[in-house]
Amino acid sequence: MSYRPYQQILRRKSRQIRVGKVLVGGDAPISVQSMTNTPTEDAKATIEQIRRCELAGADIVRVSVPTPESTAALHEIVREVNVPIVADIHFHYRRAIEAAKAGAACLRINPGNIGSKERVKEVVKAARDHGCSIRIGVNAGSLEKHLLEKYGEPNPEALVESALWHAAHLQDEDFHEFKISVKASDVFLAVAAYQQLAEACDHPLHIGITEAGGRRTGTVKSAIGLGNLLWSGIGDTLRVSLSAEPEEEVHVGWEMLKSLGLRHRGVKIISCPSCARQGFDVIRTVATLEERLAHIETPITLSIIGCVVNGPGEALMTDIGLTGGGAGRHMVYAAGRTDHTIDEAAMVDHLVGLVEKKAAAIEAEEAARKAAEATAQATAQAAE
Ligand code: SF4
Repeated sequence: MSYRPYQQILRRKSRQIRVGKVLVGGDAPISVQSMTNTPTEDAKATIEQIRRCELAGADIVRVSVPTPESTAALHEIVREVNVPIVADIHFHYRRAIEAAKAGAACLRINPGNIGSKERVKEVVKAARDHGCSIRIGVNAGSLEKHLLEKYGEPNPEALVESALWHAAHLQDEDFHEFKISVKASDVFLAVAAYQQLAEACDHPLHIGITEAGGRRTGTVKSAIGLGNLLWSGIGDTLRVSLSAEPEEEVHVGWEMLKSLGLRHRGVKIISCPSCARQGFDVIRTVATLEERLAHIETPITLSIIGCVVNGPGEALMTDIGLTGGGAGRHMVYAAGRTDHTIDEAAMVDHLVGLVEKKAAAIEAEEAARKAAEATAQATAQAAE
């Protein structure tokens, strides 16, 4: 929560569910998801891709399980990765049961498409027995026939009615550990559907603009749609759908949450646009820094500013700052104050070192705080 009122986002109150070790909904942090594109039957390739997503900061990863071979591979995949795995199932109820047994943390399924009540019952039993939650994943591109006939086209009302219809199947089985998504590739449709659904229920919402497009178009479209929802407090977990590598979806998801101050992770760089006043090559420097600082998970802010017009002002609001000076020598700021100067040739290595040192100091402080808390708790328990 920010202490500046204009930065405050009030999150919609939703019930909380569990996706493996990750809590979704309630006051849990908004989690970032992605989905693999390797054939799940190829466990080795899928595990490698999930690990890349983990490094990028994914909280949850979804894999498709269309075949018995893929649910068989899921056992190994779940064992070898750290993030909870969501098994993506469409119509084959047996895949859902196999995936639950294989250790999936969540099943992405539309109960209304599973078939008979008996089959839904079996899937819910498997989910319950194996501690799985469920995601109801409604999509404008695959709405039920009866809703298309009723509404004439996929519209927000149809998406919400579909979601609540599927939800009723689970509630009939007294199963409430589920979240819902109502995705569409049209940003207006998706946003309106989520807004209506947010009003209509208190289930946690998985938000996303489906089939958003390639890296650039998809990022812009998702930022408009998801940005709108997140800003108004809607969304408990998200996936940015891009025709790009899965870890890129994770990076973009994080940037959205960081931009809105909803979560913090890694280095947030404030930097100049292209501008002739810059005292050094800002664009190239920032690109190199982004790459070299990608391993930092601790939230740190860094300003890379080309000249004194905005350099000192931006440095005031960041942990570490750099402002371009004359003759290849630039000013470094620590906690908003001028600290020392650095030669351009050594600048990038120097900044990487400063950020790494700062991250280590913050982590040590955090570890000490946690240790002190644990000691205080143990002392209080011993005194009881
Ligand atoms: S701070 Fe200086 S270099 Fe950066 S955009 Fe402004 S005028 Fe240009």
